[in-house]
Amino acid sequence: MKPFGNLIRIYVCIERERGTVMSLKLEHVTKRYKDFTAVQDLNFEIAKGEIFGLIGQNGAGKTTTFRMILDLQETTEGTIMWEGKPINKVNRDILGYLPEERGIFPQMKVEEQLYYFGELRGMKRDVLKQEIDFWIHRFELEEKRKDKAETLSKGNQQKVQLIASFIHKPKFLILDEPFSGLDPVNKELLKNAILHLRDEGMTILFSSHQMENVEELCDHLCLLKRGVSLFSGSLLDLKKQYGKTKLTIRTDLQLGDMTLPGVKECRFVKDEYVLALEAEHFAQDIFAAVYNGQYIEKFSLDYLSLEEIFKDQVGAHHV
Ligand code: ATP
Repeated sequence: MKPFGNLIRIYVCIERERGTVMSLKLEHVTKRYKDFTAVQDLNFEIAKGEIFGLIGQNGAGKTTTFRMILDLQETTEGTIMWEGKPINKVNRDILGYLPEERGIFPQMKVEEQLYYFGELRGMKRDVLKQEIDFWIHRFELEEKRKDKAETLSKGNQQKVQLIASFIHKPKFLILDEPFSGLDPVNKELLKNAILHLRDEGMTILFSSHQMENVEELCDHLCLLKRGVSLFSGSLLDLKKQYGKTKLTIRTDLQLGDMTLPGVKECRFVKDEYVLALEAEHFAQDIFAAVYNGQYIEKFSLDYLSLEEIFKDQVGAHHV
């Protein structure tokens, strides 16, 4: 991340609180297909220059939401505004989209493909050349630039399609599952690219089933379950709802099954005891019960990870 990335993040958070730089606003958005409601009364806002995550299990309504924002599908009810204007009235060139269904022209060479998409969005060839050179280098595709897309691996095809989605420098970029199918090295490249685009002022909305990516990139998110928003707001606020209820203890002492007041569950994972507490304050009594003057290597009270929260919210009752 660039050194000023954190400053931008802080600036966006402050401005978000003041409500002065909201880019996208969804109010009471609903999508019905005959009797089936795919998205129900959805409300969220994204600040300018923010990375916002939309998460939910398969079929939760993420792609439907993206398609409504992009005006590829009509809303049944509700409004979607971009900088105060109905989004279907804004110039399409401010938008970039990586759809879930991947597809690039198989016979076209990588470089030609990117020129094609850039020129389609009205970019001049010399400006485009600089952008293409920059991103091809950044995504380690130099050796592939003259190759036909169909000869590329799936991951490389995805990188080309990703670049195509933002080569015209849109103000607002929507990425549907951008991480799927990428190996860990390419995931890292993509993460850094997303941060780079954010640092340049782009507003980014993305979906992912990989919670660690959402946790790393987003300050704000919306959690969907069967079309209904279970939570919309800051990641920290979501974590605070659960409190610091995950207690990890590493010690040579034999602690047994830890049936103590306030302990919901105790698991021994690798060389650590991992306890789920009913509330944060029980940790103090547990420490007193465990500590007998001997060295305890680790006694750590943490927020749940987004993955743990996600499983708690949708996993247990997932159909
Ligand atoms: P995934 O993570 O699997 O991509 P998603 O969250 O993107 O899922 P959507 O594709 O938005 O989910 O689908 C939400 C629901 O709407 C699903 O139950 C889907 O079957 C339904 N749906 C989507 N498009 C249509 C359509 N054209 N007609 C009827 N139902 C539809």
